[in-house]
Amino acid sequence: MKDLAHIYELENLLHDTYNEPSRRAKENGQYAIGSVCAMIPEPLLNLDHCFSVRLRAPGTGSMEMGTYYMTSIMCECARALLERALEGGYGYLDCILAPDACAQMNRCVENIDKLKLCDNEHFFVTYSDVPMKSDETALRHYVRQMRQYVLEPLADRLGVDISDAALARAVEKQNRINSLIMEIGAYRKEDRPRITGYEFAVLCLSTFVCPKEYMIPILSDTLEELKKREPDERSAYRARVVMVGSEIDDPALIRLVEEAGAYVAADCYCLGSFPERTMIDLTDDGDVLTQICRHYMEQGQCPRFMNTDKIRQRHQYVDALAREYRADGIIYEQIKFCDYWGYERAYAGKVMRKDYGYPVLSVDRPYTVGNSGQLRTRVQAFVESIEIKRGPR
Ligand code: SF4
Ligand code: SF4
Repeated sequence: MKDLAHIYELENLLHDTYNEPSRRAKENGQYAIGSVCAMIPEPLLNLDHCFSVRLRAPGTGSMEMGTYYMTSIMCECARALLERALEGGYGYLDCILAPDACAQMNRCVENIDKLKLCDNEHFFVTYSDVPMKSDETALRHYVRQMRQYVLEPLADRLGVDISDAALARAVEKQNRINSLIMEIGAYRKEDRPRITGYEFAVLCLSTFVCPKEYMIPILSDTLEELKKREPDERSAYRARVVMVGSEIDDPALIRLVEEAGAYVAADCYCLGSFPERTMIDLTDDGDVLTQICRHYMEQGQCPRFMNTDKIRQRHQYVDALAREYRADGIIYEQIKFCDYWGYERAYAGKVMRKDYGYPVLSVDRPYTVGNSGQLRTRVQAFVESIEIKRGPR
C-alpha cells in the first residue's frame, strides 16, 4: 500500500520526548500537563490553555540511574520514565497530575518531584485517589478527588478555567479526536484491511502526546485518504489478533507482531483506542465532572478495578472486541514487574482460553521491545498454532 501522507511526520515526532507541536503550543503560552495513567480523565488535562502529554521514554537504552533510585524489581516503564526525567527530558512540563493508581509509577513521579527534575517555574505535582471499584460510592469519591487534586490546583496555580462550560468544551474537543480514531480504526475490520495495525497505533499514540488541535486536521486528512486507499491485493497476515495489556507507548511492538504474521485488528491497552478513545456522552442535566468521571469509571478496563463485575466485564469486553474485529486469537502482554497486568494476564489468559475458546498468547516483555527475536519467535509459533487449528486463511 502507498504510505499514508502523515505517517512519516508522526513517526518522527514519536521519537521525541518533547515534540515539535508541543514546543509550538508552549511558545504560544499553553501549559503542558504531564500525565502518567488513564485514570485521570483526559479532558480534565486539556482545559482552557492546557494540553496533556502522556509521559514516554522513546529510544530508552540504559536504565541505570532509574534503577539506582527505584531498584531492579520495579516496573521497567516507571524506571525508564525516571531515567528520562533524570536526563532532563521532561523539563518543559508545568505539572504532573498523577493518580494513586499504580504505586510503582507514583514512586517514579515522587522521585521526579523530590529530585526537582522539572525546573519549570510553575512545576508542581499532585496525587489523587482513584477508584478500585465501580459503584456510586466510588464515583462520589472519584469526583471529589478530581475536583480537589486536579481541577482546583489547575485553577489556583495556573489560572485555568475549570467551569462546567470549559469542561464541556474539553470533552467536545476530545470527542472529535475519539470519533476520528474510531472511524479510522473501524477499517481494521476489513478482510483486506486498508490500514495496518502499526499505522493505526502510530496515529492513536500520537493523540496522547500532541496537542489535540494539532492532531484533529491530521486525523481528518488521514480518514479522507483512507476512504480512497487501495489495500494490497493479498493480505500479508496469517491470523488476526486483539492485543491486550499494559501500556504500549512504542508502536514498534505492534510492527513486530505484524511482521511475525499476526494482524493487530483491535487493541485494548493503555494508550490504545479501546476504551480510551470511545465517545464520552454528556447530557444537559447533571454535573459535567460527574458525567466525565462516570465514563472513565464505567468504561475503564484497567485491572486495578477489582470488583467481580469489573473483572467479568474485562473478559466480556475483550470477547466483544474479538468478535467485532474478527480476531482468531488474543495476545496478553505485560511489562515486566507490572503487578496489575501480571495477575490479569495469568487469570484472563486462562478464562479467555477455557471459557471463551480463544487461542491466547501470554507474554511478559521488557519496556523496550525493539527487535526482540524471542518475542518474534513466540508470535510466529502462536500464528502457526492458530493456522493448525483453523486452517490457513
Ligand atoms: S494500566 Fe491502569 S494503572 Fe497502569 S497506566 Fe493504565 S490505567 Fe493506569
Ligand atoms: S506497566 Fe504496570 S506497573 Fe508499570 S506503570 Fe503501568 S500499570 Fe504501573
